[in-house]
Amino acid sequence: MPYLNDMPLEARIALLNRRDAGKTAQDILKPALALMTQKIALVSSFGAESAVLLHMVAQIAPKTPVLFIDTMKLFRATLSYQKQLVNHLGLENVEHISPDPGRVFLQDTEGLLHQSNTDACCTLRKVEPLHQALAPFSAWITGRKRHQSATRADLSIWEADDAGRLKLNPLTHWSKQDIAAYFETHNLPRHPLIEKGYPSIGCAPCTFRAPPGMNARAGRWAGQSKTECGIHLTVKPRNI
Ligand code: SF4
Repeated sequence: MPYLNDMPLEARIALLNRRDAGKTAQDILKPALALMTQKIALVSSFGAESAVLLHMVAQIAPKTPVLFIDTMKLFRATLSYQKQLVNHLGLENVEHISPDPGRVFLQDTEGLLHQSNTDACCTLRKVEPLHQALAPFSAWITGRKRHQSATRADLSIWEADDAGRLKLNPLTHWSKQDIAAYFETHNLPRHPLIEKGYPSIGCAPCTFRAPPGMNARAGRWAGQSKTECGIHLTVKPRNI
């Protein structure tokens, strides 16, 4: 299996993408979770659509490490929903990732960095903590989908991060309708902010209702050119 071996990373990714093209998300996940046990983690925001992938992982291998980035700027509703989902799905290995308190004190003393420099705030509160948390892992799973935004339109099932880890996006080809149908079929609890008009949910100060007719992520950093927090960009964080 071409997951963790000496084959050059690019060749491994090309092979995995060829092999997994056209498979269901579960059929992509099953061998990956079985053959990379404790070497692969699911990174989840416990946002609007997160329950789908969390449910699949809980069904296949509930001990899979799940990394939840709590930026300390999340909606209270997200924190409650996170607890509810973990209990509901029976996930057994959820780790809370949060920013280093000393660095937050020094760089965001008043907690208002997001108002002046969203990139620096995301680096401090998301990118650096995740970079550290992923250190023991060789691969990670994300719930990103092509339909979510223009910047995700070319997303592949397998890719690499800047540290040379495999990155698996098993829901790449899923549509909004596929997600809705999965929630329905499995009777999954929904994030309470969805019914209030938030189709994509991140930190409270940077998440707004999506304007009608726009993509689901249009309400994230609305009014700014920023579209991604940085954890999916190939930019190395500063020394940590
Ligand atoms: Fe800061 Fe906003 Fe990024 Fe959250 S989304 S880390 S509040 S800039």
